[in-house]
Amino acid sequence: MGRPRTLALLAALTLEGCAWLSHTPGSRGRPAAGWIAHAERLPDTGRGWRVLRDDARGGQHWGTARIVSMVRQVARATAPSREVVPLVVGDISAVRGGQVPHHASHRAGRDVDLLFFARDGVSNASVLTPEFVRYDLNGNSVAWPTPLRFDTPRNWDLVESVVRAEGVGVTRIFVATWIERLLVENARARARPAWVIDRAEQLMHQPGDSAPHDDHFHVRVLCTPDERTVGCVDGGPRWPWLDKDHDKGDSLSADDATLLAAME
Ligand SMILES: [Zn+2]
Repeated sequence: MGRPRTLALLAALTLEGCAWLSHTPGSRGRPAAGWIAHAERLPDTGRGWRVLRDDARGGQHWGTARIVSMVRQVARATAPSREVVPLVVGDISAVRGGQVPHHASHRAGRDVDLLFFARDGVSNASVLTPEFVRYDLNGNSVAWPTPLRFDTPRNWDLVESVVRAEGVGVTRIFVATWIERLLVENARARARPAWVIDRAEQLMHQPGDSAPHDDHFHVRVLCTPDERTVGCVDGGPRWPWLDKDHDKGDSLSADDATLLAAME
């Protein structure tokens, strides 16, 4: 094959590849170096949740169908009625992914910050979480003007609902080690199912390369098999209970070079 023909063929293949890559909805790349096509938007409020910051205040609530479904499921499970203080949801990703202020990841539509449920430190009443509030190993707020308490039972219920969320492939719940300890002790004391506690302990992890996450849960979901075929890269652990899902699309995963070329 002559050089011009080879070049023409390459150009055609690249154009074809780009069109296909950009039309398949979902996540591309890694959580810390990725983007997202045809993202879904999590509404500012819904059954059991409200976002911490709306668009006007710089909130970013675009993600894959999976992460949006995960938020809806856990919000419904942890705030089943209007009388209950809702879950407060931080950022997901920008409309096309990429860099988001204040986050090292959140670039590929597969990360979401869920703020902790809180109680008033004096009255013990359930209160709407006002912001990212840090908690110490006894569950008391740190450096917050009005003392708050970490609502351990309700925060465990949130973790349990993340573990039980269907069809979303949760791969990590980033949270500080001392918060994880409070939650697991609570779950054991309440005799929650052993398999849920076991999975939760595997999913919960204090990140080594960023803040310890003592002020929110950061939940990450896997790529779908379809997303893997267009360059979505899971990274992180592959839990045995998610294997079935993995097997379907893995052989077609694009490598990083292909992905970077597609992003240019
Ligand atoms: Zn986060």
